[in-house]
Amino acid sequence: MSKPLPLILESPRRGQPPKHWADLTPAQRRESIEAAGHRAFRARQLSAHYFEGLRTDPAEWTDLPETVRASLAEAFMPQLLREVRTQTADDGDTVKTLWRMFDNAMVESVLMRYPDRVTMCVSSQAGCGMACPFCATGQGGLQRNLSQAEIVEQVIDGSRRLKADGDRVNNVVFMGMGEPMANYKAVIGAVRQLVAPNPDGLGMSARGVTVSTVGLVPRMQQLATEGIPVTLALSLHAPDDELRDELVPINTRWNVDEVINAAWEYARQTKRRVSIEYILIRDVNDQAFRADLLAKVLKRRGNWGWVHVNLIPMNPTPGSRWTASRRRDEEEFVRRLRDKGVPVTVRDTRGREIDGACGQLAAHES
Ligand code: SF4
Repeated sequence: MSKPLPLILESPRRGQPPKHWADLTPAQRRESIEAAGHRAFRARQLSAHYFEGLRTDPAEWTDLPETVRASLAEAFMPQLLREVRTQTADDGDTVKTLWRMFDNAMVESVLMRYPDRVTMCVSSQAGCGMACPFCATGQGGLQRNLSQAEIVEQVIDGSRRLKADGDRVNNVVFMGMGEPMANYKAVIGAVRQLVAPNPDGLGMSARGVTVSTVGLVPRMQQLATEGIPVTLALSLHAPDDELRDELVPINTRWNVDEVINAAWEYARQTKRRVSIEYILIRDVNDQAFRADLLAKVLKRRGNWGWVHVNLIPMNPTPGSRWTASRRRDEEEFVRRLRDKGVPVTVRDTRGREIDGACGQLAAHES
């Protein structure tokens, strides 16, 4: 096996993107507007344009004097994301966008329309430092943390795409590129903007937001104290330390027992059911005995109300030795969990033809 990549927990020090309206709290927006020589109520007008109307073109800010529109846009709404490419699949219901940022770092986001909801999968870092060997993003290492506004802008773009149809983004999942808990401050700041009522934010329900993690235990504990009942998704991928040390290298820092304890604590404190994510990889983690072991380690924490297992068929990347489970192995895995009473679903493979499986996004320009 090739040498494991190093874990990178701290973002390399690089230039930061320009400050944006979505980086600021409502109080900071008022202060900034006044500091720029405008009346404080302009802050509310700008927020209404941005979060409610999804209007970033100053020509559309018709309730503001024409003389100030351009300077406000320049000061507070610099363009952070430049679209490089958009791919669609599933008859146009799945849209993946590749973005280039101010420093040429690239990230992706995916918009998925279902009959009853719209889910947006966003990236929280350019690259990822968690070095999971089966993940294309992990192989490139971490370039940098995204800013709060760079995260929010991905959702604003998705909402804008839906606007003409009268649709809106109902769910946001932090399962694109990056480990959200390694960029905690920006991720929590972005979540606050998603759930803040209009016009200060997008007015989404916290229940519609899912934050994933490979298991940065101190951050999981911190998330439980934020008072925002988001869904926590723990990417477990193996129920035993021996295999998880290899598949999810951060396990050498916080092991299976510790991450499951932290997940259980999160469920206990927030009363939100935790999702256990488990990518099924052929002959690696999909054996029947691992299904039994998974049930056992989850059950140790009490009845099933606190947890739900989400099995994810592997989305193979070209040239990778990791591939999807055989159908019969997947079915056996599910059957064994169900037999033990574990709530389990198999994630649909939405976007498979455009590499759109969350957590396996890779920003390659080809
Ligand atoms: S699976 Fe997730 S945490 Fe692991 S390297 Fe890929 S993006 Fe990072």
